[in-house]
Amino acid sequence: DYDVHIIGGGLAGSEAAWQLANLGKRVRLSEMRGSGDMTPAHQTDHCAELVCSNSFRSDDAQSNAVGLLHAEMRDMDSLIMAMGDRYKVPAGSALAVDRDGFSAGVTEALAGHPNITLVRERVETLPEAGLTIIATGPLTAPGLADAIGAATGAESLAFFDAIAPIVYRESIDFDVAWFQSRWNKGDGKDYINCPLDKEQYLAFVQGLLDGEKSEFKEWEKDTPYFDGCMPIEVMAERGVDTLRHGPMKPVGLDDPRTGRWPYAAVQLRQDNASGTLWNIVGFQTKLKYGAQVELFRTIPGLENAEFARLGGLHRNTFIRSPELLDSTLRLKTRPNIRFAGQITGCEGYVESAAIGLLAGRFAAVENDGALMMPPPPETALGALLGHITGGAEAETYQPMNVNFGLFPPITGRAKKAERKKMYTARAREAFADWLAA
Ligand code: FAD
Repeated sequence: DYDVHIIGGGLAGSEAAWQLANLGKRVRLSEMRGSGDMTPAHQTDHCAELVCSNSFRSDDAQSNAVGLLHAEMRDMDSLIMAMGDRYKVPAGSALAVDRDGFSAGVTEALAGHPNITLVRERVETLPEAGLTIIATGPLTAPGLADAIGAATGAESLAFFDAIAPIVYRESIDFDVAWFQSRWNKGDGKDYINCPLDKEQYLAFVQGLLDGEKSEFKEWEKDTPYFDGCMPIEVMAERGVDTLRHGPMKPVGLDDPRTGRWPYAAVQLRQDNASGTLWNIVGFQTKLKYGAQVELFRTIPGLENAEFARLGGLHRNTFIRSPELLDSTLRLKTRPNIRFAGQITGCEGYVESAAIGLLAGRFAAVENDGALMMPPPPETALGALLGHITGGAEAETYQPMNVNFGLFPPITGRAKKAERKKMYTARAREAFADWLAA
């Protein structure tokens, strides 16, 4: 007998279970590893196994958004942060952990908690009734992935995560770039455009062909591309003009400096409601990060671009949360079901655990017959949650790390370092008020 069923004992599910159990709720935590099942990336039976790097990234709560998220999670008695701190290894200002000690510690804490029943089982369907949290991650087992697809609309469940780079608007040079939709459609100013002349375009295409790429993992090789999801370097291989007829098409775009269409153009589309983040349209790529930064900064107008995230392509199951979930992570069409972790479209260990933490708290309060106020958007938890549950554009929704571009903008003149401190100071105050309430 239990109050809440959590499916998936990864970063998000483990944190959700801990939060619920500490609030006196009885939890059934279903984890398929340990029952003879494995994902293509995990290697052990431990809960909250770190599949790749052992880093929780920056621990600086004063000038880094993920460091701020660490601080907020610690303040809410996060199990993931407590074990991260206990199994810390030296890594400068970052928080890195001994991966085996860390996940063994999480597993032990969960298994030893009187309110948690850790069951090694694979779940194949979405429970019809009862408070449920789905936290099965980017490598959700196929049977359950099909069930989620059926409940959310199959085309809403992305199986391949094609990531176009995202740029901070404040780092774009508007002496060169300009606002205009192609043929002035819509309200005429929906896109930011960067013009390339012939020489710049040819050099850019050559840069794509020459740039260092990362390889597909073995288990990614049989995953098909979605339509319209082909990496730009693959397009460049098909012919020198392919990009100029595709995502770099210049027609209908009048460069205000010449009054004419450029030879080629790069377009950026708004990525969040506040307009601080813009994605480069059609620029999903498997170029290595260093090569991307170097090459994209050759685009006129983007010479000083700062990236909120770089492009990538790997298998990833996530739902189109901004249109499917309500403000407390419930599936609008089946509100007994919450989603948490990377399957909601956040990206990263810490972010996944953070959303698990919130899902656990929301479910606990709902079990008491009440509704919990989500954290305010000025906080790291609130900014991340807001992005997932409404701030992002549903059509182009892509996994996202926490970053200051998701927070309500702080305007006015301030040096970059100062501005970051203004974000975190504002966040700490808003967080304390919310927690007290
Ligand atoms: P997970 O931690 O994957 O947990 C999901 C759990 O659900 C798993 O334990 C799985 O066994 C279980 N499960 C799945 N289906 C079922 C089912 N039907 N029934 C029962 N249990 C089920 N992030 C970083 O910050 N740094 C990195 O270096 C990094 N590298 C990554 C590398 C790869 C290959 C991938 C895929 C992702 C990586 N990520 C990384 C992204 C992300 O942070 C991790 O995937 C993170 O583990 C996500 O947390 P989660 O709780 O959502 O999912």
